[in-house]
Amino acid sequence: MNTFHNPAELHAWCAAEKRLGRVIGLVPTMGCLHQGHLSLIRLAKERCDRVVVSIFVNPTQFAPNEDYDAYPRREQDDLALCQAEGADAVFLPRPADLYAQDHSAWVEETLLAKTLEGAQRPTHFRGVCTVVAKLFNIVQPDIAVFGQKDFQQVAVIRRMVRDLNFPIEIVRAPIVRDTDGLALSSRNAYLTPENRATALCLSRAVRQAQDAVAAGERDAAAIEAAAKETLTAAGWAPDYATVIDAETLIPIQTVLPGASALLLAARKDGLRLIDNTLL
Ligand code: AMP
Repeated sequence: MNTFHNPAELHAWCAAEKRLGRVIGLVPTMGCLHQGHLSLIRLAKERCDRVVVSIFVNPTQFAPNEDYDAYPRREQDDLALCQAEGADAVFLPRPADLYAQDHSAWVEETLLAKTLEGAQRPTHFRGVCTVVAKLFNIVQPDIAVFGQKDFQQVAVIRRMVRDLNFPIEIVRAPIVRDTDGLALSSRNAYLTPENRATALCLSRAVRQAQDAVAAGERDAAAIEAAAKETLTAAGWAPDYATVIDAETLIPIQTVLPGASALLLAARKDGLRLIDNTLL
């Protein structure tokens, strides 16, 4: 497994692999890898000849009041996990490798990025799009794999790829959950045992919505109200519980099975978790 810090060196390696006709897959992450990330690497391995994993806690997608400094970092464990999964290259840039001191160019998606997570975190998706566009330019992958866990992120990236003509297929991988249902997240490391127990309200709300739709419920407002009730009853304050069109992210009134999704975000004790499901 090759490890790179320098963007130009990774670019040269990827270009050489491409000249040999190899299909390249990219899995962008912020590290502290768990089974969710590893499922993305496996999916990329199935589809590609060479898989590049990037591990970068991207400062520009964190607001000043967010957890950039506290975000868990576990570089040595991450490298061992990438190696075990058969990644071919790992990219571990330092902030200065990607952002010049006078960095002044940004990539911004201006529609899908404004609601939901974007309403709570106004500069978040500008940071995400900018760093993902950088990674796309450095690696020039054929395929990039993102997790459904960050549902809005995949939609925003797909829109960026369409609107800026990146010749890259975006693959959305299913959410990997713990045995009790909690969606895996690097930020779960922040949960006290008590908060971890009550955090199951998010996956419970997701399951209830799935069951309701399976039983014939189509009223988005009823599904949203039930989800909020489940979160609130467990002591988590909903930021949003919204039924949307799965592609445009526009809130809808009537569930169209297969084309709708429920997106959730909730807070407790300064922590914030998200979850979602296709309906
Ligand atoms: P992060 O390191 O949190 O930026 O996540 C890197 C990638 O892994 C993103 O595409 C996430 O959506 C994805 N991911 C995070 N958690 C999960 C999960 N539980 N299941 C599937 N993919 C995930």
